[in-house]
Amino acid sequence: MLTGIHVAFIGGDARQLEVIKKCIQLHASVTLIGYDNLESSFSGATKKPLTPDVLKDADALILPIVGTDDEGYVESIFCSQPLHLAEEHAASLKKDCVVYTGMAKPYLRSLLARQRISLVELLDRDDIAIYNSIPTVEGALMMAIQNTDITIHGSQVIVLGLGRTGMSLARALHGLGARVRVGARRPDHLARVYEMGLTPFHISELKERVADVDIIFNTIPHLVITAEVIAQMRQTALIIDLASKPGGTDFQFAERCGIKALLAPGLPGIVAPKTAGQIIANTVTRLIAEQSGNREE
Ligand code: NAP
Repeated sequence: MLTGIHVAFIGGDARQLEVIKKCIQLHASVTLIGYDNLESSFSGATKKPLTPDVLKDADALILPIVGTDDEGYVESIFCSQPLHLAEEHAASLKKDCVVYTGMAKPYLRSLLARQRISLVELLDRDDIAIYNSIPTVEGALMMAIQNTDITIHGSQVIVLGLGRTGMSLARALHGLGARVRVGARRPDHLARVYEMGLTPFHISELKERVADVDIIFNTIPHLVITAEVIAQMRQTALIIDLASKPGGTDFQFAERCGIKALLAPGLPGIVAPKTAGQIIANTVTRLIAEQSGNREE
């Protein structure tokens, strides 16, 4: 339970509604900032404008998945006014308040560091990344289906990277009957690909592996699908790049070759906002409970 704990929310999208719901269920005292246009009202939550005063007794501050932009603006689909998180707001937080977000830009990191306020970047966590890989994979499959005229079953696919997303994706594609090759660089990853019954290859050999590929899914956040690689691909091939912006593909060169290459960020929030919200809600409320337990010890 979060009884007696004050959780403040600034901005967000549909995912945040699940987090708010869970905090209320757990009896936290909840303040919503930047939710003026939210139609469904939460009993047990109070809407307030963004002022230093409203933040001063918060035990936890929850920001959207992308905490702020490079200038400190917080996105909210429930508010038409800009929400700017400034020095005066950070300065008013209690020193043991913890700020939670998906990922922080340098602006937010340095703002909080100056005030010695702890920041938790949820998307860095293995548990969240693994749970999030489920809606991400479903979104990637949706994009593959929408952008090809062949079945995934029987198609030649390559997955680049065997991290938290790559592993879930390779497994799902295999389950659907695709011929799956996985490009990675670590010997243990190559061994794991072999153990999974898939075809491993070292990422440095990518150029030699793409001539017959139907779909390449990239999860490596570095330029790996280079012009050299794209030049070896068939024009009918599809590239779905899941890696964080700017992705790992030479998109300009792909376009010049007439090869469809799609950067697909934020799939959990697009294909399954409710599930994506629940994933965050479960972890964040557990972390807040631990945080308050630690404080009481
Ligand atoms: P991860 O677990 O860190 O996996 C990344 C993989 O890339 C690892 O296997 C890593 O292998 C490999 N890698 C990194 N740099 C490499 C390089 N230079 N050459 C070869 N391999 C390299 O990350 P993740 O959670 O799977 O996420 C992967 C990417 O997808 C991230 O950019 C993440 O932000 C993004 N993402 C996007 C969505 C979406 O909706 N599109 C959803 C979730 C995640 P090593 O261990 O060898 O470094």
